[in-house]
Amino acid sequence: MSRRWLFADQLGPHFLDDRRQPALLIESKSVFRRRAFHRQKAHLVLSAMRHRAAELGDQARYLRTETYADGLRQVSEPLDVCHPTSRRALDFVQRQGRVTVLPARGFVTAMTDFADWADGTRRSTLRLDTFYRFARLRHEVLVEGTDPVGGRWSLDSQNRRPPPKKAGRVAVPNPPMPREDDIDAEVRADLDRWEREGIRFVGRDGPRRFPVTRREAQIRLRHFLRHRLSAFGPYEDAMLSTDASMAHSMLSSSFNLGLLDPMEAIRGAEKAYRADGAPLPSVEKFVRQLLGWRDFVWNLYWYFDAGWRDSNALAARRTVPQWWQEIDADVVRAHCLSDVLDGVRSRGWVHHIPRLTVLGNYALQRGWRPDELVDWFHRSFVDGYEWVMTANVAGMSHFADLGRMSTKPYASAGSHLDRMSDYCGGCPYDPKARLGENSCPFTAGYWSFLHRNKDRIRDNPRMARPLKQLAQLADVEAVAAQERQRGSDPP
Ligand code: SF4
Repeated sequence: MSRRWLFADQLGPHFLDDRRQPALLIESKSVFRRRAFHRQKAHLVLSAMRHRAAELGDQARYLRTETYADGLRQVSEPLDVCHPTSRRALDFVQRQGRVTVLPARGFVTAMTDFADWADGTRRSTLRLDTFYRFARLRHEVLVEGTDPVGGRWSLDSQNRRPPPKKAGRVAVPNPPMPREDDIDAEVRADLDRWEREGIRFVGRDGPRRFPVTRREAQIRLRHFLRHRLSAFGPYEDAMLSTDASMAHSMLSSSFNLGLLDPMEAIRGAEKAYRADGAPLPSVEKFVRQLLGWRDFVWNLYWYFDAGWRDSNALAARRTVPQWWQEIDADVVRAHCLSDVLDGVRSRGWVHHIPRLTVLGNYALQRGWRPDELVDWFHRSFVDGYEWVMTANVAGMSHFADLGRMSTKPYASAGSHLDRMSDYCGGCPYDPKARLGENSCPFTAGYWSFLHRNKDRIRDNPRMARPLKQLAQLADVEAVAAQERQRGSDPP
């Protein structure tokens, strides 16, 4: 039997063929030397790898080396590896010649099945909703025969509630937090030493908030299905300054480290509906995130060409400024952006709506380079990987591919943020104002973005209405000039 090389995002039992298979884990320091990762992400990844090695005991070789190549030189046996999760890692593994690459694990829809589906659609835009239907039927999730349970594939019209602003939080118990142990203490001491040696991190250190073992992840999953899932759907699109996690599962890093197999969570959610009375709109939304969205963006990363990550059809050429790169929330006055950046800085995590409607939206409006943002999201979030951030930024928020997976740019003005959050009440800017000292940077930025890109998005039917509204604005040139003047300074 070959020794199975486990990358840091392949840590669950489903990445081994059986319980006795010999394993190899290589902790490469050069990964952290090359780019500044969030300190808590570095902690999470190293802690998860070391915990997995401790679980496997003599079955695993755990090498701490400068590079992966240094580690491989110490191993003479035949190796195999499940399909790595980045093009760079796949290329490296394939160049070794002696490492057999197996099909990917940790996702539901196989790459070959996805390619067959995508080839069969014959559309220029691959749509999540059609893939999601295909996946529900293919894997028999929430279906009765060929029909969706509840009569519709999407029950989103029953979700999308604004946040409970008066209560200030969603009425669910907090997710169980992991308890740090000796391995965490060793990781923290190592990272402190690396910093003294000159390796740079961004963000702040803090207590570990995310699971590093399968057991910790299973505890959080069970708690979510029992206590939080029911409230997930209604408030899924909303944000609260006083409740960062709301009813989100906080399990994305566990799926992306490979601690949980997504199908066990999908079946668990289905059971919560069928046996335990969890509301279908919440269950369906959770299933759509995992079986639909997560598998969709993973497979698109491989189905599209390598150049997708660097696409930039809206000519966003400004470099991401230093204050953003360093996650310096203190220089920002805009309440929404300041709070969300503070969440990234202090936790390495905010849920996906602030990522899209605050961070992605702001960067899109300013014309910041999508390739730099993919890299920033990858490094700064505990669950960030190139395969998911490429879709989030290039495909979705930045519309940098002119619609290979989305039908329009993810641009929105302050009025949307005002409706879906409690941020605007405590902000020095006015969400309705687009011109002047107190004009909301998101509202002014929205019109400025449309003005700058009107010729590039003119033929997009979903942008017809916003462009018509833009044409009726008498002050649009002044708004655009104001936003050019504001540039990439913190708002
Ligand atoms: Fe954000 Fe604008 Fe609202 Fe301030 S007014 S919180 S900048 S959307």
